[in-house]
Amino acid sequence: MTSFATLGLIAPLCQAIEALGYAAPTPVQSGAIPAVLAGRDVLAAAQTGTGKTAAFALPIIQRLSAIDTPVASNSIRVLVLVPTRELAEQVCESFREYGSTLGVKSFAAYGGVSLNPQMMRLRRGVDVLVATTGRLLDLLGRNALKLKQVDTLVLDEADRMLDLGFADEITTLLQALHRKPQILLFSATFSPTIRTLADQLLDDPASIEASPANSTVKEVQQWIIPCDKKKKPQLFLHLLKRERWTQVLVFVKTRKGADELTETLLGRDIRAEAIHGDRSQPSRLAALQRFKAGEVDVLVATDVAARGLDIELLPHVVNFDLPTVAEDYIHRIGRTGRAGASGEAISLVCADEVDQLAAIETLIGQTLPREEQPGFEAEHRVPQTAPGGAVVKKPKKPKASKAKALQGLASASVGTKKPKPAAPPKASRPAAPPFGKRGPKPAGPKRSKA
Ligand code: AMP
Repeated sequence: MTSFATLGLIAPLCQAIEALGYAAPTPVQSGAIPAVLAGRDVLAAAQTGTGKTAAFALPIIQRLSAIDTPVASNSIRVLVLVPTRELAEQVCESFREYGSTLGVKSFAAYGGVSLNPQMMRLRRGVDVLVATTGRLLDLLGRNALKLKQVDTLVLDEADRMLDLGFADEITTLLQALHRKPQILLFSATFSPTIRTLADQLLDDPASIEASPANSTVKEVQQWIIPCDKKKKPQLFLHLLKRERWTQVLVFVKTRKGADELTETLLGRDIRAEAIHGDRSQPSRLAALQRFKAGEVDVLVATDVAARGLDIELLPHVVNFDLPTVAEDYIHRIGRTGRAGASGEAISLVCADEVDQLAAIETLIGQTLPREEQPGFEAEHRVPQTAPGGAVVKKPKKPKASKAKALQGLASASVGTKKPKPAAPPKASRPAAPPFGKRGPKPAGPKRSKA
């Protein structure tokens, strides 16, 4: 059996991870650790929950521990770029956990908190800086940071960074580097834009696919509940009560929507909190801590929070609204069924969201099973969808009398038993183009305020 030692990790690191209870390397770790130790560029398709952070952090720490000279003032040796503030904290914490005994200094810099303490800390130099792009460029602009000593650059959740529109910032940053460092590109999905970026940046990379590209984590049971838009809050309350969910992460599309749902829940004495882009970084982190500690039962989040939430064994994720960007569906449901544990991802889908549903099914290559909820059947029918986006029938509002009769039939025939997980993809996924020539700058789709 592969062990961390056979991958080439030194004893102090093996002991540190053993103390954390990691019995054996995950597939992405088996692939990436030897390649990073050998100084190679890496292109890895790995979702959150696959152990991707340790896959780059462990070998980076090992390489840093072999360097005798201290890092210069205002300098860094490793730069890890991440899309969100939460992920910056989480990745930095992992570096600290794994590297504490080896004297590797890590620091997280992100926006939403004051700049001065970050500038002060950088004066002493740090080995590993984990940063969001905006704040990093700010620090560079104020000469608080020099990139001359950067040997390794990690682009973590690169697809997400592009989705959030950071393509320009990444380009600016790369231009600020004095020489080409070792580059490790991690992405949950291999979209054409990611392949373009990889083609531009990476030099003969070790290519690792920890899970089939664009597939969802197989331990997660997924299904949709068709319903009318206006009935979603009632349906969610009904499910919460019936299923007695105690730790549920709910995704909504907008900040306003998140606040409204949270108000509704609080009005029913349900312990709920919202996290979204309007809340300050410290208050978002505090809400997350309360959720992790079990003081909050329902965390209502926009996609800003979709990444970087490390909550082990989170049993349920609910998509109150479907995401506008199909890839976000994979990121969202990656919050459940983590590290081999099973989880459930339930999406409440209304007729307006049929195009998003079709796009998600195309991306994951499977039709999501449907479960009608008696009493909440959609008056505005959600048309049948299938991978490839084929919408078999257009939405049609049935006549009142007919609708009633149909509802009666549905209530009589549908049980409360959960559907089985969807069968493996039958239809082939849309083929990603092979690594091609340098293409246009990757650009992300538009998204709503989260
Ligand atoms: P990540 O994909 O980096 O977000 O990691 C997901 C979770 O898996 C984190 O809680 C890690 O602590 C945990 N983890 C990482 N590697 C292993 C491993 N080899 N064995 C068990 N758990 C792990």
